[in-house]
Amino acid sequence: MNIDLRSDTVTQPTKGMLEAMQRAPVGDDVFGEDPTINRLEEMAANMFGMEKAIFCPSGTMTNQIAIKCHTHPGDEVICDELSHVYQYEGGGIAFNAGASVRLLHGDRGRINQDHIKGAVNNPDDVHKPISRLVVVENTANRGGGSCYEWADLAGMSETCKQLGLSYHLDGARLFNAIVAKGNDAKQYGEIFDSISICLSKGLGAPVGSLLIGNADFIKKARRVRKAFGGGMRQAGSLAAAGIYALEHHIDRLKTDHQNAKSIEGILQKQPFVKEILSVETNIVIAECEPTFDFKGFIEKMKQQGVLFFAISPTRFRMVTHLDVSSEMIEQLPEKIKNSL
Ligand SMILES: *Cc1c(COP(=O)(O)O)cnc(C)c1O
Repeated sequence: MNIDLRSDTVTQPTKGMLEAMQRAPVGDDVFGEDPTINRLEEMAANMFGMEKAIFCPSGTMTNQIAIKCHTHPGDEVICDELSHVYQYEGGGIAFNAGASVRLLHGDRGRINQDHIKGAVNNPDDVHKPISRLVVVENTANRGGGSCYEWADLAGMSETCKQLGLSYHLDGARLFNAIVAKGNDAKQYGEIFDSISICLSKGLGAPVGSLLIGNADFIKKARRVRKAFGGGMRQAGSLAAAGIYALEHHIDRLKTDHQNAKSIEGILQKQPFVKEILSVETNIVIAECEPTFDFKGFIEKMKQQGVLFFAISPTRFRMVTHLDVSSEMIEQLPEKIKNSL
């Protein structure tokens, strides 16, 4: 069996999850008649202490719907330069919302109040786009799974209120941050206008994301989801996997974090590794010495069944998840030795 460290999206549904999917009652969700989707949406809204939630096929869609609902064409979205919404959603901010973007240079994908205050445009200056929305990502993917400090998130919420900006959280891996930092989901619900979470990352569901917010916002989101082609019909079986994941797969994220820490320890001993972004959750990003045969190494590891990606000419990324066990991690030193 491969040791697949490419992404936490590669997991197979567990037996319990498949059984839950098979049992789920379904209906036409565009008519609002899928009992399992309704249950998942209610569960997510309650978890975050927010009014409503909407189930969507992907985290790209939940983010893009949020951006579309918070902005008008020509407005500006403020986010870190490494953000998924900017880097990995196919130019969707421009394509779907017609909005422009102000990129900030944060710390491993994390920005703060001062960054926002420095980036916001004077609304009376007709030359400038209207600053409308701040998007933050927790954990930050390209930051190597880095987590925000609560004070920074709460501080930015205050700043957004003062400046009249909406505040959206790309929480594709929010539960990793919650487990690592010990905050409550409800605290997040109190400070954000909208939250996107992915069920298909560390939580191990095959498909699905949720956008969570107040009732008016989610009503608008339902219209935009339809226009984006994301209205699904008897998708309750997918929602059942999501319910199962929220009930069974949150606490176990600790194991993924421990396994990522073990990988960090193993890589620290390798002379070809120059630096590792200190591991906070389930993502390990390592920088190699420039003289190292980086491509050859990745290829030889692949031949031994260890899969992972290069994310730059000298950096690679390894991600732990439900289908990576500590026994697999124990095999890594040997496989690395054979690949040098
Ligand atoms: C994976 C991811 C998403 C959503 O991706 P989809 O593949 O569209 O579900 C959004 N934000 C971040 C930070 C992600 O890592």
